[in-house]
Amino acid sequence: MDNEKVSWHKFVWHKHSSLRFSIYSWIAFKEGLKTASNLATRGISVCPSCIFCKSNLETHNHLFFECDFSFNILLRFFSRMQSMLLRSNLWQVFNYIEDQEVTNNMKNYHFLSISAIVYFIWRSRNDRLFSNCSDSVTVITSKIKRAVYLKIHRKNASKICSLDLCLCCGRYTGTPWPASSCNQGLAGCFEGL
Ligand SMILES: [Zn+2]
Repeated sequence: MDNEKVSWHKFVWHKHSSLRFSIYSWIAFKEGLKTASNLATRGISVCPSCIFCKSNLETHNHLFFECDFSFNILLRFFSRMQSMLLRSNLWQVFNYIEDQEVTNNMKNYHFLSISAIVYFIWRSRNDRLFSNCSDSVTVITSKIKRAVYLKIHRKNASKICSLDLCLCCGRYTGTPWPASSCNQGLAGCFEGL
């Protein structure tokens, strides 16, 4: 248990972490988000189903990342997880990154990305429940990429956003984040920090 506690601290609080995103990952690790399952244990009656797939009980493990919807968002960032035999939970996703043979800078970039994914999935879940707003996997993925990008490049963000150029290769993209066809992508930007 002590080892686990030390590890998730390392996953959530690091040199390039974002307070806004890290807090949600921290709460998710502690299974403290007010999921339908958690509310039921407190005697609060709510719809028990996942708002995304509507076919499973909404628990932390289901939201992060047993659910097809959230898992598809995760795959947009970590496509190799498709080849894993079992669908990973939050703890296993962070450990998967920890086991990669990449630089610490790159690991922190991935940890930041996972925390942003957790934040935006939870926010999208609340938007669907309380604001009748149902963003698609593609839209949520774009929001996450933009948020991570702005976190990494916040000093020059406004200038680059106005230019709508890919940060990595400098080509016009029409969007303020790297082109999907860019060879370097956000990870390439981060390696240079
Ligand atoms: Zn679901």
